[in-house]
Amino acid sequence: MLHDQTAVITGSTSGIGLGLAEAFAGAGCRLVINGIATPEEAEALSHRLRHKHGVEVLYHPADLVDAEQCVSLIRDAERQLGPIDILINNAGIQHVAPVEQFPPDRWDAIIAVNLSAAFHTIRAALPSMQQRSRGCIVNIGSVHGFVASINKVAYVAAKHGIIGLTKVVALENANRGITCNAICPGFVMTPLVQKQIEARAIEAHLSNEEATGQLLREKEPTGRFTAIEDIAAFALFLCSPAASNITGASFPLDGGWTAQ
Ligand code: NAD
Repeated sequence: MLHDQTAVITGSTSGIGLGLAEAFAGAGCRLVINGIATPEEAEALSHRLRHKHGVEVLYHPADLVDAEQCVSLIRDAERQLGPIDILINNAGIQHVAPVEQFPPDRWDAIIAVNLSAAFHTIRAALPSMQQRSRGCIVNIGSVHGFVASINKVAYVAAKHGIIGLTKVVALENANRGITCNAICPGFVMTPLVQKQIEARAIEAHLSNEEATGQLLREKEPTGRFTAIEDIAAFALFLCSPAASNITGASFPLDGGWTAQ
């Protein structure tokens, strides 16, 4: 379905990004994957995706805290695999603490990875997309782009920012064959959430299972995690011809969290 297209997916060595990489490779896309990994892990993952799906897969080690490395990710992808058709800004990190105790270096890192990196990659990728009048940009936001939770000041600020970034990029490129949308999940069972469950279990003297139940009951009316595969299927839809008139939108995939 996406044969002969090139996709760059940030933060695709784990969690949602890895699920996106599987889905887009499965749809026939050439891929540049990225994320924190040892050279051996990166090679093993690229090799596995390449052979499972029969597509070209390259790993790029850009540390997205750094603006220049964000630009290198895009330039190297273009040089090695050709013009980018699909850019998915997925990489994200979390830190949990009340505002007055929130470490400034964690604030800087979260804003850099979860928000500024998307600006830098989009800024670098747009000229070639504009020249070719084609491109799909998908930003992985969060319910925390719409609503807040305590102790997540940097994450909530960054995710609100992603929704604004998505709208401006969409408007500026509305007549240029380029769409830009955001997918905003509720809880998804990945290492990022697993760490929060473990911290809650320790703090409240609960089992991991009890802490998981508590976390879901607090926020998600369906009482379920959103599946990585469902997020990937939605991202594939946003990159399909059927979604060519959908742009500037931010979609909650959140079990009813933001309906409350
Ligand atoms: P994860 O921890 O499983 O994966 C994060 C990915 O980002 C990894 O590949 C990691 O290596 C990469 N990464 C982190 N810092 C990086 C850096 N400096 N440079 C390059 N890569 C870096 O997390 P996840 O849960 O899959 O999260 C993916 C995205 O989904 C994030 O933007 C997150 O905010 C969002 N999200 C997650 C949930 C959830 O419940 N898990 C909910 C809503 C939104």
